[in-house]
Amino acid sequence: MTRQQAHIEKLAKQIGAKVSYVQRPPMTTEHDALYVIQANINPDNSEVQTLLVTSDIIYALALHELGHIAINDSADKMPIDEYSRCYHYPQVNCFERVVREEAAAWKWAHANALYWNEEMAAIEQEGFGSYTDNLKKLQTEPEQIRRRRLFMSQLFGG
Ligand SMILES: [Zn+2]
Repeated sequence: MTRQQAHIEKLAKQIGAKVSYVQRPPMTTEHDALYVIQANINPDNSEVQTLLVTSDIIYALALHELGHIAINDSADKMPIDEYSRCYHYPQVNCFERVVREEAAAWKWAHANALYWNEEMAAIEQEGFGSYTDNLKKLQTEPEQIRRRRLFMSQLFGG
């Protein structure tokens, strides 16, 4: 086991989270496989699913996902079903809260990491950047597009 993985397990224990390991899904690129890393995969919101922690990138993402669980009791944490609704059918107010939770989870990751290097900063930028980009788009989209998007999301159960 890498020392990064050992550290993830130690932190998980401290915050009462479970870690489960999954294999890289077949037919995925190394990079796409990173999307299997997620938190809150069980009903009581306390499990992180990750690839084996064999790189700094996986380490950073696993730390971030632990962060989602570590902040369970904070004001930055959204109820899981609300997070999911806001993520899939975003409106500005709602998505702002998603971004706030993401920021808090990254902050926790930084505070608890053994180190934070350039590769880790790059994956953070890629991950968190996609949320802040989306928020910016929502904040600046023309009224007509906003209305159409809301209409579509209502049609499909948003
Ligand atoms: Zn996140």
